[in-house]
Amino acid sequence: MNLVEGLNPKQKEAVLQTEGPVLILAGAGSGKTRVLTHRIAYLIQEKNVLPWKILAITFTNKAAKEMRERVDQLVGKGAEEIWVSTFHSACVKILRRDIDKIGYSRSFTIYDTADQKALIKECLKELNYNEKNYPVNYVLGEISNQKNELISASEYEKNSAGDFRKEKLAHIYTLYQKKLAGNNALDFDDIIFKTVELFIYHPDVLEHYQNRFEYIMVDEYQDTNTAQYRLVRLLASKHENLCVVGDDDQSIYGWRGANIRNILDFEKDFKNAKVIKLEQNYRSTKVILDAANAVIKNNYGRKAKALWTENEQGDLIDVRETENEHEEAEFVANEIVKQIEKRGKEYKDFAVLYRTNAQSRVVEEHFIKHGIPYRLLGGVRFYERKEIKDLLGYLRVILNPSDDLSLKRIINVPKRGIGDTTIGKVEEVASNYDMSFFDVIREDEIVSQFGRAASKLKKFADLIGVLQAQSQLGTVMELIENVLERTGYLKELEEENTEESKERIQNIKELISKAADYDQNAEEPSLEGFLEEVSLVADIDNYDAENNAVVLMTLHSAKGLEFPYVFITGMEEGIFPSYMSVVSENEDAVEEERRLCYVGITRARQKLYLCYAKSRMLRGLTQYNRASRFISELPQELIAVGSKAKKATDPLAGIRPKNKVLHTYTPYQGAVSNNANSSSDNSPLEFGCGDLVKHIKFGVGTVEDIRYAGADYEVTVLFPKFGSKKLMARLAKLKLV
Ligand code: ATP
Ligand code: MG
Repeated sequence: MNLVEGLNPKQKEAVLQTEGPVLILAGAGSGKTRVLTHRIAYLIQEKNVLPWKILAITFTNKAAKEMRERVDQLVGKGAEEIWVSTFHSACVKILRRDIDKIGYSRSFTIYDTADQKALIKECLKELNYNEKNYPVNYVLGEISNQKNELISASEYEKNSAGDFRKEKLAHIYTLYQKKLAGNNALDFDDIIFKTVELFIYHPDVLEHYQNRFEYIMVDEYQDTNTAQYRLVRLLASKHENLCVVGDDDQSIYGWRGANIRNILDFEKDFKNAKVIKLEQNYRSTKVILDAANAVIKNNYGRKAKALWTENEQGDLIDVRETENEHEEAEFVANEIVKQIEKRGKEYKDFAVLYRTNAQSRVVEEHFIKHGIPYRLLGGVRFYERKEIKDLLGYLRVILNPSDDLSLKRIINVPKRGIGDTTIGKVEEVASNYDMSFFDVIREDEIVSQFGRAASKLKKFADLIGVLQAQSQLGTVMELIENVLERTGYLKELEEENTEESKERIQNIKELISKAADYDQNAEEPSLEGFLEEVSLVADIDNYDAENNAVVLMTLHSAKGLEFPYVFITGMEEGIFPSYMSVVSENEDAVEEERRLCYVGITRARQKLYLCYAKSRMLRGLTQYNRASRFISELPQELIAVGSKAKKATDPLAGIRPKNKVLHTYTPYQGAVSNNANSSSDNSPLEFGCGDLVKHIKFGVGTVEDIRYAGADYEVTVLFPKFGSKKLMARLAKLKLV
């Protein structure tokens, strides 16, 4: 098969330029990922490069899998030997081999966000710091930022001297790292950081991988952070056959430490780098591409690019204003049904994208009502559910008994009469003797000092011992079933027999089938391999393009994907661009939101819908925001005329939760001229739904509904003597009582 056939001249050039550093800088849908895939195939087939000498880094496990499949189709041999993986899975592989050189054991556990939070809480307690002053999420964010910049705890301690608050943060960071090491655990950022550390302190290990990976490729390079960048540079510094592809306009992980400079500076870092620009877009219609170009051109500090396409003009963009989020969702649902009937589309041709996960719920409600099958990516993740975490906790302890955090999670689940006092005592001994929790309870002599709890602790230690022995013999699925039986976990849930417990049992079954699947399909199935796989799955990895269902996901997870029809909902100031980016008046933050918008628009192949609602209830607050500035950045001629939703009566009015209404900020006063308001119109009301208000004539009543009505708010109040009245809040001088 001719591997460069069907590529345009620039794409061909990128495939043929196999030696030396190459930067492929190109806009969305220009075939970057396609070029990478063809390049790998070309290396193997034409250049006789051994597949295992190639490392390709992708953004998600799903992308990795797809790339492998495509290479498989193209060359039909050796694809399984290529390292195609995410940064995290590649690093975990490296660490599993050699992490003992930097003081961890190879059976280390990977902690997720919930574990991290639990550990930070322990640190705050031990240091006697108030969680109010050091909110857990904030602390974790700070620590993560440091790790992404490769700043260790001790370095941070040094940097922070003299700054009271930073000093305290440094103490938390130091203790947190100590605890992680004690539990033989790594958090997500550590996975990269520790690999860099391993390479720096053990040049022999680095050399091994440098020799091995003669060809390195990185997709979505614009989203690498300093740590990842360093890692790539270290690995590539010997052969310098490094090909990175990216789009500075699609850098959307600034908050995670992604460093857009990495891509802009590539030419400086690799002096003889060849830069290839791809400018033809193969994905979208002219209209969609023009819209994307028009929006992104409002950003400064970007490399100029002119994307064009030979594709047809296509449908105009449907910009849709609705009264509220229910009408919006209803519009999306109806439109999908209509397009399926009219144009013979399938459910899987549609994607609904939004800024935050919380926005999916209402869309889901309406999809259910219309019987539209959908797939939700994100939300409460499967692996964060209690029963799943409990079971994984057992598996982790079986594999890595030094994992105190997991051990404490399960020691009394199901209840075994081992209370907090006992746990506290064991911990004290553990800390005095510098032992792990499990080592303490395994020592009969020590345990016998714990009085009545002694036999319970011993029984628990024995249970873990038995399960450990079993883990050597059977499959992962058998091990999970054994845990469920021997611990009585399943029996307890069955006896509970509530809706909730039934759901938990369903989830457990799902985990069992996941394990069965793993046992059958993994190359070398093992307990650690299974735990690794479940720790590293991102939401997006659960997305199956074959499944005929509408896809719902955040704009962030949509990166790299494409769909014929795309709806972006919640196109409102304060939602998208986000509230934080708007109030901070930080242009960088708004520019990042704009890049996210560019990512969203360019996911669409045939038709794009941009929806905004005049009022929206989100997380219990009703907000009245005006249309997103990104909509006003679109040229009028790209927007379909009259694409305004009819003022339908709210179909879900009855089931809508009544919640607090608060109007908290003044929307953006910029470019949107058609519905500009003076700021005083938007000042918050002092009351919300459910509150009691007083009216001079009608007396005291309960607020039932609040709607934005141009210069004022229309408030529906139920008065005991006069019934329900619709009043203009300011005109009627309603007061909170
Ligand atoms: P993104 O920036 O969104 O990641 P990308 O630059 O990686 O996009 P691809 O996903 O590789 O772009 O390609 C976009 C679409 O265009 C795909 O459907 C791909 O198959 C198609 N495509 C790319 N190059 C060509 C080509 N030369 N001829 C025909 N189709 C192409
Ligand atoms: Mg791509």
